[in-house]
Amino acid sequence: MDFLFENSWKAACPYNPKLDLKDIYIYDTTLRDGEQTPGVCFTKEQKLNIARKLDELGIKQIEAGFPIVSEREAEIVKAIANEGLNADILALCRTLKKDIDKAIDCDVDGIITFIATSPLHLKYKFNGKSLDDILKMGVEAVEYAKEHGLFVAFSAEDATRTPIEDLIKVHRAAEESGADRVHIADTAGCATPQSMEFICKKLKENLKKAHIGVHCHNDFGFAVINSIYGLIGGAKAVSTTVNGIGERAGNAALEEIVMALTVLYDVDLGLNLEVLPELCKMVEEYSGIKLPKNKPIVGELVFSHESGIHVDAVIENPLTYEPFLPEKIGIKRNIVLGKHSGCRAVAYKLKLMGIEYDKDMLCEIVKKVKEKREEGIFISDEVFKEIVDEVLKKRNKNK
Ligand code: MN
Repeated sequence: MDFLFENSWKAACPYNPKLDLKDIYIYDTTLRDGEQTPGVCFTKEQKLNIARKLDELGIKQIEAGFPIVSEREAEIVKAIANEGLNADILALCRTLKKDIDKAIDCDVDGIITFIATSPLHLKYKFNGKSLDDILKMGVEAVEYAKEHGLFVAFSAEDATRTPIEDLIKVHRAAEESGADRVHIADTAGCATPQSMEFICKKLKENLKKAHIGVHCHNDFGFAVINSIYGLIGGAKAVSTTVNGIGERAGNAALEEIVMALTVLYDVDLGLNLEVLPELCKMVEEYSGIKLPKNKPIVGELVFSHESGIHVDAVIENPLTYEPFLPEKIGIKRNIVLGKHSGCRAVAYKLKLMGIEYDKDMLCEIVKKVKEKREEGIFISDEVFKEIVDEVLKKRNKNK
């Protein structure tokens, strides 16, 4: 077992299982579920830009929208479908012919058609419709879409609160009607990794060839790990949104799923990882939902180091305090100077700025950095430069 990670760009716990996940892929729903975040409404140009960036990253399928919602929505989905991207473009539809016709008008490659299957939704949303009624609607929608040559994913809404035998029954019927994929939607975000694995395993045993897709919500902060356990259970497709935006607490964050699978589970997704930060920034700007500074993978602080002990080690080998090198996603680490900074951090910064120094000068600068920070001043590069100039001036005077 390699505990030194020599010549590696990642340094995950060697006891992590290497997942033999062949041909798994992402269908991103930033443009549909992500836009359902209360208060978020992308413009056409913004949606096109996000779709292009997702395509540049190498995402296999993009759920571009819900065309029946409005004429404007349909127009945007159509524009994305005709953009000539490598990704397949999907549209969301209820199990209604008019929704599917609308999607067909938008020139999409496929649809995700959804209907709720849980007793809770059947009783309170569908006024007591039976599971057989639901099944019939699902089958008709899948058959209709397949007749039109579309890729079809059938999604059981609130699947994780549906008795497993009902879920198997509905998804088997969907497969027999031609569905290419069936979705387990954890609509209210109440599954655990264990239940997600169980449901996917059971479904896989009962399906012939339809892929299983997982769509997880983050109400308990489990969206990413539930998605991964779905894959462990046999799912092939995983639903994500950039920055994890979406209804309520959001969805599984694309950047977290991608890097967790890549770094922790050693899965090669074949993506252009350096596109991730730009994509996340773009969605942060367009959605107006600010990323916390400590947001995993792309937060402003996640590749910043201040404490002297950490900085010293990171200068020697960054993997001592980083799970992977930020260069891998096209960003740079940041050494923040503050009251915890030692000589090495300051020397490192001086070297980066091309400033020559000797030991006395270094000690003087370190002292000043600590003083300034404790006076409440953030040591930005400008402030640091001022400190250096001040020390240099004083020294020239004394000569
Ligand atoms: Mn959802």
